[in-house]
Amino acid sequence: MISVENLTKSFQHNGSTVHALDGVSMEVNAGSVCGVVGPSGAGKSTLARCIALLEKPDGGAIRVDGTDLVSLDGKALRAARRQIGVVPQGDSLLRQRTAAGNVALPLEAAGIGGPQRRNRVGELLDLVGLTDKASVYPDQLSGGQRQRIAVARALAAKPSVLLADEPTSALDPSTTDSVLTVLDRARAELGVTVLVVTHDMAVVRKIADDVAVLEDGQVVEHGKVLDLVAEPGSKVSGTLLPATD
Ligand code: ATP
Ligand code: MG
Repeated sequence: MISVENLTKSFQHNGSTVHALDGVSMEVNAGSVCGVVGPSGAGKSTLARCIALLEKPDGGAIRVDGTDLVSLDGKALRAARRQIGVVPQGDSLLRQRTAAGNVALPLEAAGIGGPQRRNRVGELLDLVGLTDKASVYPDQLSGGQRQRIAVARALAAKPSVLLADEPTSALDPSTTDSVLTVLDRARAELGVTVLVVTHDMAVVRKIADDVAVLEDGQVVEHGKVLDLVAEPGSKVSGTLLPATD
């Protein structure tokens, strides 16, 4: 379970202060999928990067499975980071490595080698349905296939939490579905808690149990997708979100 409490994070930009996260509180139940939506600049990536421990919040608490992440440092921080799988926003695969080589990266970092690494990479490629692409380089994969490899890589170290930042942006609907299927398998077969950042309400309706709507660094709606879709006037029930770029 992910629990975020009163999270704040500001950036200095051209002499002014941007409050990227302005007191964000939300929870994601263990083994569920939560969508985070909102317009461009709302703070979605900042939230994901704080939970992934790639960005240090100014204040507030982040707990994953009961452990407070904000106060960790050194070895404990590195260990906690391994418990969190990240699919970064944008194209994140290393071009000079094959699909299998990309999936193997976190295992190499953890000092896992030999047959153990090979087997694990094989399992992950199987999970994302790309066994036949093991020795192919990212340039020869479609956008959806690249994102599925990025998900496999994020799951390599067996994290309990998976954060995916716009994993389906720039994909057509059927390719989007193939990526969503992989995220759903991570939840259903591995019991991973998934937080997926998206500007696409269709993605939320398809795979999320819960949704949080961010605007200007604040949560303006948070609840069960089914409840919010049925609630007239909710942002989730609308067909349009404020445009993202
Ligand atoms: P998008 O949908 O475009 O990806 P987002 O909701 O992910 O947007 P963030 O990337 O979290 O938005 O950015 C939130 C705010 O914080 C924006 O105003 C952004 O310009 C600012 N910001 C984010 N990262 C930095 C940084 N490293 N330095 C300065 N400002 C930043
Ligand atoms: Mg973003």
